[in-house]
Amino acid sequence: MLKTAYCGDLRESDEGLDVVLAGWVHRRRDHGALIFIDLRDSRGIIQVVFDPKQAPQAHAVASEARVEYVLQVEGRVRRRRAGTENASLATGAVEVQATSAQILNSAKTPPFYINEDVDVDETLRLRYRYLDLRRQRMHGNIVLRHLVTRKIRGYLAERGFVEIETPVLANPTPEGSRDYLVPSRINPGNFYALPQSPQQFKQLLMVAGFERYFQIARCYRDEDLRADRQPEFSQLDLEMSFAGQEDILQLIEQLYIEIGRELRPDLNIPVPFARLSYEEAMRRFGSDKPDLRYGLELVDLTNAVRGTPFLVFKSATDSGGTVEGIVVPGGAAFSRKEIDALTETVKTYGARGLVSIAYLADPANAGEEQLRSPVLKFLGADHARALGRVAGARAGDLLLIVAGVGGAPAKDAGSSGRVKPALDALRRALAAKLGLADPNTLQFCWILEFPLFEWSDEDERYYSVTHPFTAPLDADREFAADPGAAHSQSHDLTCNGQEIGGGSIRIYQRSLQAEVFRALSLSDEETRERFSHMLEAFEFGAPPHGGIAMGLDRTLALFAQDDDIRNVIAFPKTKSASDPMTGAPLPVDPAQLDELGLRLKDP
Ligand code: ASP
Repeated sequence: MLKTAYCGDLRESDEGLDVVLAGWVHRRRDHGALIFIDLRDSRGIIQVVFDPKQAPQAHAVASEARVEYVLQVEGRVRRRRAGTENASLATGAVEVQATSAQILNSAKTPPFYINEDVDVDETLRLRYRYLDLRRQRMHGNIVLRHLVTRKIRGYLAERGFVEIETPVLANPTPEGSRDYLVPSRINPGNFYALPQSPQQFKQLLMVAGFERYFQIARCYRDEDLRADRQPEFSQLDLEMSFAGQEDILQLIEQLYIEIGRELRPDLNIPVPFARLSYEEAMRRFGSDKPDLRYGLELVDLTNAVRGTPFLVFKSATDSGGTVEGIVVPGGAAFSRKEIDALTETVKTYGARGLVSIAYLADPANAGEEQLRSPVLKFLGADHARALGRVAGARAGDLLLIVAGVGGAPAKDAGSSGRVKPALDALRRALAAKLGLADPNTLQFCWILEFPLFEWSDEDERYYSVTHPFTAPLDADREFAADPGAAHSQSHDLTCNGQEIGGGSIRIYQRSLQAEVFRALSLSDEETRERFSHMLEAFEFGAPPHGGIAMGLDRTLALFAQDDDIRNVIAFPKTKSASDPMTGAPLPVDPAQLDELGLRLKDP
């Protein structure tokens, strides 16, 4: 090694030690008589002092060095002079007095600051990702990722799980998201699909008798990207035979608690994790991934508004819709402008508008002058008071109401005119505005019993809410008569308003699986072509099984307290699914296309 110690490891106990260090110039301060260089390596930063009187050669090197130069420095560890310690550095009690030094490599001036945590344009960061990853925060995120995956592997191995790799060149399936396709040269006209998840393989591993499988699996989905999506992402994927849902929940819950305790003991993780059925989550929070760090629960006012002359409410209830609201404690003090901003929020989520009633006194006996609402003259003071009472508003509170077409949208449906998504957005906006969500709390919550199917008006057919291998609740085995009413033995894990994983107890009987495919309007031919291997496998003694897949990138983002999953992935793609560093995706040589039997359409 070109070094005998790591910069970041040196402590007071190393005083007097002769060391050889190698690393990058993080900062350089030329004080005339002395030069100070903060030397950085993969473990941290140490201050090195270059004194021209004691070590003229080293001082000359330090004079020449610039930020990000690669240096090798020999010297002795000494305690810093009293009053010059740096509490913000782990090595801050000591420094190294250089005796000799050499430049191992020079560096151009970096395109952005590496030694400061400043905002840098995303494309620039990704173009120079190797420099971006030198930044302390990013470096810490990637190391945390290593520690989390190491913890996962140890935890599962201790519990008898076997790590098994599954193919990346897999089979296209018509379910779920859009596939990334790979043309086959040897079988012209045929394609592999990159797996959206190893779902089928892991179930087949259960049929194969492994009983406990896991994998840190790369998954690929050709979707439009958002901050929390990447075309390729990693899952902690696992499957268990002869296990009930409770076993899966306990396994993951304990794993996440241990990751938190060991790697982020400073974070607050309430245990046991909360649990809500999908229906309850939708009813109380308007979302299947509610942030439970704060209240602001939805109140159903549909019955309470019946009989009001106010047309907005009347047309909603007459058309079978709902009227629901949120009580904002202390919100009576909101200005018109603040309420207008919230109105804009609900409008982007499809609500027509937001009705507000401020209670300057207890709704039970508020005089008319103590009620503030732009619609008071349509609603009438009696109704305004009654709504406040039903909603549980108190003096000083604000009641915000959305009216519209009702119904609980199934997973991820952002359809317009719906009350729930608008109130979910309102809840989040209010929490952000009032600072209600403690950033140092990870509030996990299981969401159970999703609907088995959702109806698509557009395609006039049902789709699986999770995926077609999910078992219905025992009580809903006879789902064929009314597929839309059935629920599944599914489980999502959510945290702070985000979904971070999901899974289910699976179907393992051929006949039931075939029934689900029928409910999904898949033709016999399609089923045979795409899923015959699954159906066939179920005829050879498939054990009862279930599992889950946890989004590793989102998990990391939570534990790293970073909003953007790209900050916990070493080499992510931009929002347009490209890599500014390597240039991917790129055109290829026509000869390569020809070999694959492909021709590009004229643009
Ligand atoms: N394969 C599923 C997914 O990727 C998770 C599971 O059911 O285990 O969402």
